[in-house]
Amino acid sequence: MSSSGFSSLAVTEQNSRGRVYPEKPHKYRSDFERDRDRIIHSAAFRRLEGKTQVFTLTVSDGDDPYRTRMTHTIEVAQIGRTIAAALGLNETLTEAICLAHDLGHSPFGHMGETVLDELMTGCGGFEHNRQALRIVDLIEHPYPGFPGLNLMYETRLGLRKHPDGGDEAGEAVFSERNCSLEGQIADVADRIAYNCHDLEDAFRAGLILEDDLAGLEIYRRSFRRIDAGSIADGSIRTTRIAKDIIDRLVSDCIDFSRSKIAGIKITSLDQVYAAGDKLVDISPENHQMLCGMEKFLLENFYLSESLGRTTDRVKKHLKCLFEALCGNPDLLPPYFRRFVRSEGLRRTVCDYISGMTDRFCLKTLERVAENI
Ligand code: MG
Repeated sequence: MSSSGFSSLAVTEQNSRGRVYPEKPHKYRSDFERDRDRIIHSAAFRRLEGKTQVFTLTVSDGDDPYRTRMTHTIEVAQIGRTIAAALGLNETLTEAICLAHDLGHSPFGHMGETVLDELMTGCGGFEHNRQALRIVDLIEHPYPGFPGLNLMYETRLGLRKHPDGGDEAGEAVFSERNCSLEGQIADVADRIAYNCHDLEDAFRAGLILEDDLAGLEIYRRSFRRIDAGSIADGSIRTTRIAKDIIDRLVSDCIDFSRSKIAGIKITSLDQVYAAGDKLVDISPENHQMLCGMEKFLLENFYLSESLGRTTDRVKKHLKCLFEALCGNPDLLPPYFRRFVRSEGLRRTVCDYISGMTDRFCLKTLERVAENI
């Protein structure tokens, strides 16, 4: 541990590469606290409330709502902070990365992303991690002197998910081979969070039944550990099991990462960046069990028939809106029209649509349809 109380592998304000546009220090808040707050106050963050994870359109209408990207994001941040604190790493940076990690998602979950990527073929494609960087570096514009949120280098690095760092569309390029440990935590926290809450939501939607999970080791272990057979209420039982899976995976991640880092004798942040391997992870045994659950969710939930019907509608809606806006750029709001010259029309339309909430996307389609 260093004098700051952090592990010598943590990102700190002292070893940070700082901001692109230098700013005076704040009287009360650290640089990474300011980053976290800028993310929370951004328009893209507020829109997470209206973006679904998996459930879309008809499936999510109800008075007992399933996860949105907003609630998912908050859960990821909580898990991330627990892991960061236990490993002596920068909890605030971890929180900032977790809060920003899904900013780039389009409306209608992963299907929306696939459709936009197809529509952007030959123009750089569309991918939600790259989009998160475009949002914080360019599209958000709350300051007069520069575009974007002017986040700290390491917060932005944490949003990078590709080893090459940049792409042909000209997005940010990073030289580090590996992400900081704080960024690696955000990745694991995301994986733990979405698997466990998708499981819980799928139960509540009645898309999967408890008997369906009897073959899954990860489920059976938690069932036994909390003595779930003694819980009479089915909804409480499945919730407790999902929470226990989270708890076990988080503890496993802390223990496994701690011993992995100690085992390879890394002592500096530069060595973290140069390492070819993920240093924060869950153990191979739990990884294998989690893969089993991911496969199960894919086959029984994400690809379920009722979600499939929604998917076809989403495809049609997004394509129609995209082509309509490309054919009539005057229908773009002035804020986005000014990007056409520097970013190109298709990229600007993609930026605009990908930022929409599910409902706003449908509303815009109706409005645009009246004008063509
Ligand atoms: Mg996520």
